[in-house]
Amino acid sequence: MVGACGARVCREGAVVCDNYGRLTSAALDPVEKKPLAEWMPGSYVLSVGSYGCNLSCPFCQNHEIAAARADTVAWRYVEPAELVAAAERLRPRGNVGIAFTYNEPLIGWEFVRDTARLAHERGLKTVVVSNGVVCADVWRELLPLVDACNIDLKAASDEAYARLGAGVFETVVDTIRAAAACPTCHVEVTTLCAPGFIDADSIDRLARLLASIDPSIPYHVTQYVPRWRMTGVPAAPDATVRSYADIARNWLGHVHIGNM
Ligand code: SF4
Repeated sequence: MVGACGARVCREGAVVCDNYGRLTSAALDPVEKKPLAEWMPGSYVLSVGSYGCNLSCPFCQNHEIAAARADTVAWRYVEPAELVAAAERLRPRGNVGIAFTYNEPLIGWEFVRDTARLAHERGLKTVVVSNGVVCADVWRELLPLVDACNIDLKAASDEAYARLGAGVFETVVDTIRAAAACPTCHVEVTTLCAPGFIDADSIDRLARLLASIDPSIPYHVTQYVPRWRMTGVPAAPDATVRSYADIARNWLGHVHIGNM
């Protein structure tokens, strides 16, 4: 039986990670594209994704892989050692490590853990780009292996999160709080300004909440692009996104505008 995320299955009574090492995408990206605005600027990171996700955002930019299953998307099995070797070969092109991104990487956290351990042994950095929906004990185990992360904060209430697939607002906040408390992990947070999910009031609430965790946390307020089930919903005017960023600046010292 396959779980709702599409990546974990029940086999002989146990839940196992079925997308382990199954990569659907890989690219050498600038760290700024993750987005990470205040961590190793100007460097590149080998970015990889698998398939599946534990949310189902109607505006998903990567739905081709996030909403996919093992038998609906092309993938290639890559062992952690093979991926680390590929990252090392890319060092001359500015690569500093490996980013787990594109789909939700923590539904396959065992692959992140095993690869990150090897990467650290080889002096490579590791990056996680996540929706933050992860069990606290898994995140605690992973954090010492993660050098930088960007966590999405997609809405300001359980009710709004429920429309993205699960009412997990507090879980996501706890994920950010744990990362911010980890002395070896740099954390940034992103809110996509998706109409119907984010407005001025929710930005104010989220920025205030982030400031209570750490007022110097870099916060990305990014323009939504119509995609997937929201192709008919136009983006808010750029001026609106800029005004949201100004609201966030009332509470936070490092606010960045993205996708514009
Ligand atoms: S959490 Fe990210 S990958 Fe998953 S459905 Fe939402 S936008 Fe797509």
